[in-house]
Amino acid sequence: MQWETVIGLEIHVQLQTRSKIFSGASTAYGAEPNTQACDVSIALPGVLPVMNIEAARLAVKFGLAIGAQINRRSVFARKNYFYPDLPKGYQISQFEIPIVGKGAIEIETPDGPKSVGITRAHLEEDAGKSLHENLDGQSGIDLNRAGTPLIEIVSDPDMRSATEAVSYLRKLHSLVRYLGISDGNMQEGSFRCDANVSIRPFGQEEYGTRAEIKNINSFRFVEKAINYEVDRQIDLLEDDSKVIQETRLYDADKDETRSMRSKEEAHDYRYFPDPDLPPMVLDDAFIAEILESLPELPHQRQLRFVKEFELNARDADQLTSDRALADYFESLQALTKVSPRIASNWVLGDLSAALNQSEIEITDIRISAKELATLLDRIEDKTISGKIAKEVFTAMWNGEGSADQIIKSKGLKQITDTDAIESIVEQVLAESEEQVLQYRDGNQKVIGYFVGQIMKKTAGKANPQQVNEILRNKLGQ
Ligand code: ADP
Ligand code: MG
Repeated sequence: MQWETVIGLEIHVQLQTRSKIFSGASTAYGAEPNTQACDVSIALPGVLPVMNIEAARLAVKFGLAIGAQINRRSVFARKNYFYPDLPKGYQISQFEIPIVGKGAIEIETPDGPKSVGITRAHLEEDAGKSLHENLDGQSGIDLNRAGTPLIEIVSDPDMRSATEAVSYLRKLHSLVRYLGISDGNMQEGSFRCDANVSIRPFGQEEYGTRAEIKNINSFRFVEKAINYEVDRQIDLLEDDSKVIQETRLYDADKDETRSMRSKEEAHDYRYFPDPDLPPMVLDDAFIAEILESLPELPHQRQLRFVKEFELNARDADQLTSDRALADYFESLQALTKVSPRIASNWVLGDLSAALNQSEIEITDIRISAKELATLLDRIEDKTISGKIAKEVFTAMWNGEGSADQIIKSKGLKQITDTDAIESIVEQVLAESEEQVLQYRDGNQKVIGYFVGQIMKKTAGKANPQQVNEILRNKLGQ
C-alpha cells in the first residue's frame, strides 16, 4: 500500500518582552532558579494578572506579517491541569477567540513553492520547568519561566513530508527573528515544536489517527522524529493494528518516539474565560501603528535581491533567510567594486562555510563587511587572483590582519609584470619538450599542465589571464 504522510505543527514562540505577560517580573534567561517566580506567575491568593501590552503588540506583528486576520477582541481562558511545573493548576491561554486568526505562509519544496495554512496563533503564558540533572535522583522545579509570554502558532495539517515540515519550521523561525519578536533560541527553549503526525492511504480524503510528538528541539530532530513516527505507523497499519491517538516523546539519543500519555481532549481542560482578565480589545490605531512598523519581510527582500542585484532565486532565498546575513551582504555589496553576484558567492560560500565550521553566528563575525569588501576589491584591481583571495580570507579569519597587511606580509601580490611571466613561461616550455610535442599534435589538454607548472613556480601568484595569453602566444596560436 502507498501511504501519504500528514503533518500539522504547533510551535511555541517565546516573545521577547522584558517582563512577563501578566506581571512586571523579569523574563531574562539563565537566572538562579525561582528568583523570577513572582507572586503573579505562581498565582498566590489575592494577586491579579495585568496584561503586558507589549506581548499583544508582538503577537499582532506576527499576525500582520502572515496576512492573518487579527481579532480586535480576544479572550483569555484558563486551561486547567496540574503538573509539577504548573503548581497554580491552570495556564492562562486563549481558547475560543485567539488574538490571531487564519493566515498562511509560503514554503519552498522540491516541487516549488507551497502555501501552508495557519489555523491560529494565540497568546498564553509559559509554564515552569522541571529539572532532572545533577539532583541526586530528585527532580527540581524552576518557576522562573512561568509567565513568560508565548504565542502558540498552530498550522493546518497541510504538510506531506518531514522535509516540508522542516521547511515550514525554518520559514517561521526566520520570520520571528526578522520581526524581532523572539530570539528563536532553540537550545534555550525560545522556539519549541510539537509535531502531529498521521498517515493515510494515498487518495483517501479522510485523515488518519494522529500522534503528537513532543520535545523536539532542533530542526534535525524534527525531521528524524517525524520519519521515525511515520515508519512506526506504517508498520502498525500494515500489521492490521491501529494507531492510537496519544502524546509521544522523542528521544534523540535512541532516535525513537515513546508513548507518554493518552491524548487529552479539549474538554478535559475545562476551559473557561479567565474572570481576572477582561477581554482584550485592540483599536485601529494600535494595529495601524504596528503595520507601519513592519520591516521588509524575508520574502519581499528575496524578490528585491533578485531584481536589484540580479541574483538567482535560490541564492537570494538563502541570503534573506537570516536578517543579519542579508544585512551583511547588503553592506558588502555597497562597499565593494565586485558585482553583487560575486559578493553573494563569497557570503554563501567561504564566509558561510567558515561560520559553520567555527559555529559562530553572523552577528558575532570578526571580519566586517568593510574588511571583506577590501579583500574582494583586491581581486577586482588584480592585486591577487580569486584563488589567492581564499588563502587571504583564511588568514583574515584567523585574525592575522587586514587583507592588505596579509597580502604584503605573505608576499601574495600577483605577478603582473609581462616580462617576468614571459620568462617563466619560456622556462616551463623548455623543460616540457614532450608535452610541447603533444600539444603540437593537437592535444589541447596539456595547456592545463603548462599552467599548473607556471603556477607552481610562482606559488600561484602569476596573473592567470596573462599566463594564458602569453602561453598561447608562445605556442604559436
Ligand atoms: P489539539 O489542540 O488537541 O492538539 P488541534 O485540533 O488543535 O488539536 O490540532 C493540533 C494540530 O494537529 C494542528 O496543527 C493540526 O493541523 C494537527 N492535526 C490535526 N489532525 C491531524 C491529523 N489527522 N494528522 C496530522 N496532523 C493533524
Ligand atoms: Mg496540541
